[in-house]
Amino acid sequence: MSTQYALVLNSGSSSIKFQVLDPKADSTEPPFVSGIVEKIGEKNGHIKIQTETTKMEDTRPILSHSVGLERAFGMMSLLGVGPQELDLRAVGHRVVHGGEEFHAPELIEGDVLDRLKALIPLAPLHNPANIDGIENAQALLPNVPHVAVFDTAFFSTLPEAAANYALNAEVAREHNIRRYGFHGTSHEYVSRQVPGLLDKDPSEVKQITLHLGNGASATAIDGGKAVDTSMGLTPLAGLVMGTRTGDIDPGIIFHLTRSTDMDIDEIDNLLNRKSGLKGMAGVNDFRELQKLVDDGDKDAKLAHDVYIHTLRRFIGSYLLNLGGVDAITFTAGVGENAVGVRRDALAGLENFGIEIDDARNANEEGIEGARKISTDNSKVKVFVVPTNEELAIARYADELANQA
Ligand code: AMP
Repeated sequence: MSTQYALVLNSGSSSIKFQVLDPKADSTEPPFVSGIVEKIGEKNGHIKIQTETTKMEDTRPILSHSVGLERAFGMMSLLGVGPQELDLRAVGHRVVHGGEEFHAPELIEGDVLDRLKALIPLAPLHNPANIDGIENAQALLPNVPHVAVFDTAFFSTLPEAAANYALNAEVAREHNIRRYGFHGTSHEYVSRQVPGLLDKDPSEVKQITLHLGNGASATAIDGGKAVDTSMGLTPLAGLVMGTRTGDIDPGIIFHLTRSTDMDIDEIDNLLNRKSGLKGMAGVNDFRELQKLVDDGDKDAKLAHDVYIHTLRRFIGSYLLNLGGVDAITFTAGVGENAVGVRRDALAGLENFGIEIDDARNANEEGIEGARKISTDNSKVKVFVVPTNEELAIARYADELANQA
């Protein structure tokens, strides 16, 4: 039987990223096709399609998301790997916010789009583009099942004490203000591999997963269920990120409102796009930050130290609330690659049963895929597990398409 592929779409406000992959593939296998449509609405557009053997680019202006997607599909067809040629089995859409409405991936049919639209006030920066992506893809591929996979779904199990803010209850209830958490697809995908690495039953495993990419979040997981996470109502909360503050005193916002002429959208932009590593050190790419630190740049050193300090604050809090853990796992761009971040995040914790092996941490053996970086004596096992959100979404899409 020929391979049955799924298309995974991640539609943002000015770009669409996508992959065509085999949901049954091994996690280390590259996608069959990957592509990006970016600079939508700008003077120069950019569409890039890549397969293992070839690539194709187009730099003409792209008027809208739907035009961009249609053109990308056309380019894929020219390469012989378009949705029609491949007889796609399912389309999986990454949706950032599922609110209290969606606790698991969902086949997009009936009133699902309307329920998604009702959630826009909770994620005005993300959900409209996700919904637009779904509508465009459904118009172009009407005969394929479409599935929404939510960044928030993994956190629907958070205990009430972790999910609620000490905000006026009436206001919180009326506006659905609570901790939802994000990066759930990644935390779930990575954490599900850990019991196997420990040779334990998933129900017995307590663990912390650290998704450290351009966005970053930490999650505490007990018996496969998320019990705490660092992002909140929005992805702005928690750890220091590439361009986001992570946790700050909310009083800072009132102070800025009263003492500057910034309006609320400018403050939103400041906290989400002009802060974090970029705002402190001028760069959001962790490799560039490390280079600046090595060159003696003081701002970069401070940004790095605040990053590590905040990370340790969350690890410590989750260790305590879980009453100790079996494993701590690093994932995403920084988590998978930055040897120094892993070392510094867990330095000096031997009394807590956590001991990093320097050679394993530096991956001197060049192991691809999941690997242990703690010493054999370390009571808590520390792992690096590459995340693959697209594969996780493809698997959900395939599973639900089978039931359609
Ligand atoms: P992600 O959002 O998962 O794609 O991660 C992006 C982040 O990973 C960026 O800040 C990159 O600088 C960082 N990153 C990627 N490769 C490395 C590396 N070899 N060392 C340090 N950071 C890296």
